[in-house]
Amino acid sequence: MRRERKAKIVATLGPASSDRATIQALCEAGADVFRFNFSHGSHADHQHRYDSVREIETALGRPIAILADLQGPKLRVGQIAGGAAQLIAGSEFVLDQNPAPGNATRVCLPHPELFAAVRAGQSLLLDDGKLRLEVLARDAAGIRTRVVNGGLLSDRKGVNVPDAVLPIPALTAKDRADLDFALSLGVDWVALSFVQRPEDLQEAHALIQGRAGLLAKLEKPAALEKLEEIVALSDALMVARGDLGVELPPERVPGVQKRIVRVCRKHGKPVVIATQMLESMISAPVPTRAEASDVANAVYEGADAVMLSAESASGAYPVQAVAIMNRILAEVERDPLYPKLIDAQHEAPLPTRGDAICSALRNAGAVLGVAATVTYTTSGHTSLRAARERAMAPILSITPRRETARRLALAWGVHSTISPDVSNVDEMVAAACRTALREGFVQPGDQIAIAAGFPFGQPGSTNLLRLAEIWPQG
Ligand code: PGA
Ligand code: MN
Repeated sequence: MRRERKAKIVATLGPASSDRATIQALCEAGADVFRFNFSHGSHADHQHRYDSVREIETALGRPIAILADLQGPKLRVGQIAGGAAQLIAGSEFVLDQNPAPGNATRVCLPHPELFAAVRAGQSLLLDDGKLRLEVLARDAAGIRTRVVNGGLLSDRKGVNVPDAVLPIPALTAKDRADLDFALSLGVDWVALSFVQRPEDLQEAHALIQGRAGLLAKLEKPAALEKLEEIVALSDALMVARGDLGVELPPERVPGVQKRIVRVCRKHGKPVVIATQMLESMISAPVPTRAEASDVANAVYEGADAVMLSAESASGAYPVQAVAIMNRILAEVERDPLYPKLIDAQHEAPLPTRGDAICSALRNAGAVLGVAATVTYTTSGHTSLRAARERAMAPILSITPRRETARRLALAWGVHSTISPDVSNVDEMVAAACRTALREGFVQPGDQIAIAAGFPFGQPGSTNLLRLAEIWPQG
């Protein structure tokens, strides 16, 4: 199944989209990657979704990536007597370690690590930033605060501490259990939430051991201070605008998004723009103009993928949301301005053989007006470096490894296929032409440019650029 676009769509599965027919409809409407949100649902739910996605993948003959999104150290307050209490602006409010139900003057904060990390003058945000507390002091009672923005605080609402680097690991006990389970299923990507420092990624890599790609969710201001290092240590990134927009004032999110996309493009790491993209479609069959514009602008900026959360997981119009996203993406990519905007931020290749070949692939492809570029890859690296070039000819990626083909479903411009390794250059050209014809990328008379590594099948050996013409197949 060929898509007529380069940017990808990540759709979150949830209660509104877990039966096989709906997942297949999402896929046919344009979803390239399915996100399993481990903040919700049981392992049995995820197992069931996993099995359905793999059945659909086989039925449609198109590699699909599955992204397991770990909840991470999401901080929450404890219970409140009667379920909720009204916090009044100007009054004092204490967060303590007493498990007794809270009220309008105090609540339990069941995260002992936090008490030493906060300082007077910092802000604590509750319930997605709707309530704001200013820290007055830490004393025997706990963290004494003044209510700046009041409101109704209910049980177990989230707590954000934007000004502090918290001394908490990026993986909780729940995350570790979820990670083991997700890897046993065979997911292609693992997303790490609330990444704060490069060490968080090293810790996750040590657990994952290459069994899945590691995607870092950027939703903490502290991570932005170490952005280059974090991008370098990740296999992919997400601009997680939900929590980012709580921890930062919302007006800072657009600029931060652009900066992150730029750094990711420089490093050649796939980057996903997430959260509230088509928010109103949770309950309406059409998006707002501003939402359509937000999705389109993410693509004009050069993002690899755009994501749906509640729109596809629990909304009333999951398939329509994917279909609308698909239409917006295709429309951007038909715009003659799109390649110009993408090219304006083209980054110079690195001094490696892989980048030298992929840069030549882009130039040769443009000079000849090739119908497709073909990349042979084992680890996925060559296809990702070709994607980094952002050439306008589609990238037909060929790999013998199913895991590689699936993982590449997230990457800009890459159409992933699985084929056994070739043993010589003639076979390589023949297989490239055959695959390009079969997948609908070329017609007889078209030219293609092929990048590969010789000896074939050896990761990191990219050293070959071959140009070929498609002959009628007999
Ligand atoms: P979440 O992450 O949906 O897991 O919170 C995305 C975000 O914060 O934007
Ligand atoms: Mn988040």
